[in-house]
Amino acid sequence: MEKYDVIIVGTGPAGMGAAFSLLDLKKDISILMIDKAPVSTGGMRNDCKMNFTYPIGFPFEYWDEATANRYLEKVKAFLKPDILPKSNIGIYQMRAEKLGCSLLEIQQTHLGTDGGLRLIQKLMTELQEKGVTISLREEMLSINNEQKFITTDMREIGYKTILIAPGRHGFHFLQDVMHQLDVGYMDNILDVGIRVETRIEHYPIVKDYYDPKFYFPEKVRTFCTNSGNAHVVKEKYVTERGDIWYSVNGHAYAADAARNNGLVNFAILKTVRFTQPLASGQEFAEHLGVMAALMGGGKPLMQRVGDFRLGKRSKVATFNNDLYDFEPSLKDCCPSDISLAMPSKILRYIWSGMKKLDTIIPGILHPSTIMYYPEIKLYANKPEYKDDRFQVVPSVFFAGDGAGTSRGITGAWASGIRASEGMAEYL
Ligand SMILES: Cc1cc2nc3c(=O)[nH]c(=O)nc-3n(C[C@H](O)[C@H](O)[C@H](O)COP(=O)(O)OP(=O)(O)OC[C@H]3O[C@@H](n4cnc5c(N)ncnc54)[C@H](O)[C@@H]3O)c2cc1C
Repeated sequence: MEKYDVIIVGTGPAGMGAAFSLLDLKKDISILMIDKAPVSTGGMRNDCKMNFTYPIGFPFEYWDEATANRYLEKVKAFLKPDILPKSNIGIYQMRAEKLGCSLLEIQQTHLGTDGGLRLIQKLMTELQEKGVTISLREEMLSINNEQKFITTDMREIGYKTILIAPGRHGFHFLQDVMHQLDVGYMDNILDVGIRVETRIEHYPIVKDYYDPKFYFPEKVRTFCTNSGNAHVVKEKYVTERGDIWYSVNGHAYAADAARNNGLVNFAILKTVRFTQPLASGQEFAEHLGVMAALMGGGKPLMQRVGDFRLGKRSKVATFNNDLYDFEPSLKDCCPSDISLAMPSKILRYIWSGMKKLDTIIPGILHPSTIMYYPEIKLYANKPEYKDDRFQVVPSVFFAGDGAGTSRGITGAWASGIRASEGMAEYL
């Protein structure tokens, strides 16, 4: 059996952050990175908008401000971001505060989906040049930590220490691993909401602040704003039972005036935290997703704000009629009535957030604005960690979004560095 000092599962930002950090911390160690995809599949590959201000992307359970800032400095020093300029923030903040809302001022950079891919390719080449072995299209299936090897769809591989960083899509896989290792976990929080798409002139703040983070009462917030050459996309999920559902999402390509489609999209999400007796946020999310897919003939749903306000469903004609002045960027979506599919409490809070947003930046409730449903962000598992380096059992570490230690590219990278310090100590 082939053996490495370190195996890293997942080549997303958590895996990469750990790999680069280990190369600094320990000389002459053998590192293998595997990924089931041909290129890492998370946010670095999609939009690659990076936030460098606490608490964005850093779950409070694992990060206080001082710790996060210490690691953020390391992430910054490595990635050397070009922070985007902002203007008129004070005015928006004042308007928001009058309504009991807030606008966070975040240091951001945006590479776009194309720029993100170039970054991944550059980083992967750098890792290989530094001696890291990378195996793509190889999927980890199980772990045997007594005998220190994993089984993939190709072979068995031995390790001294391992980092498992499979991202949000690796949710079920990580739960399987935790069962194999007898690690306890919780999964009781999720974000549910819609993606809003409109013309840039109806949400002009994006000219002043690329991804404005508004916080509304009742745990509602705006999230992941994209503009310029911006598109709404759908992500496929499969439940344990094999049911297929989709969450919408959004991304934009790197700034290029010649290719702008004049649209902006962003999520507006409500955080839901469950207590007894419902333990699994994931299962709740799946039920919502499957319900929407049922109503949409296997597709996510979309509705114009004009129809929503009149209490009418949107129809195919609603998306062609010249009364409405732009076509949806996500074509493979079902015109519908989102209020039939969405829990009323969540919808009520989100609509209240949208009305406040329309007061702060008039325009967002233009009748042509499209609301896509569902957009669901799983908060991932909260494993029982043995230490503050995200070790779950001796020699096995988790990091990144799938393991609940981050909620974004920079947080994932930081959590990879933090885990790597524990791994270096273990070695
Ligand atoms: C469409 C989209 C857009 C996003 N946009 C942004 C953004 O602009 N900014 C931002 O900060 N965040 C964004 N995010 C969130 C971002 O993706 C995550 O915060 C970040 O990528 C998490 O990093 P990670 O390393 O934990 O996981 P990931 O980046 O998801 O990487 C995990 C990797 O593990 C691999 N993997 C999973 N299971 C296995 C297995 N069993 N065996 C082998 N390999 C496996 C996957 O193929 C994947 O490449 C976006 C997410 C999505 C889905």
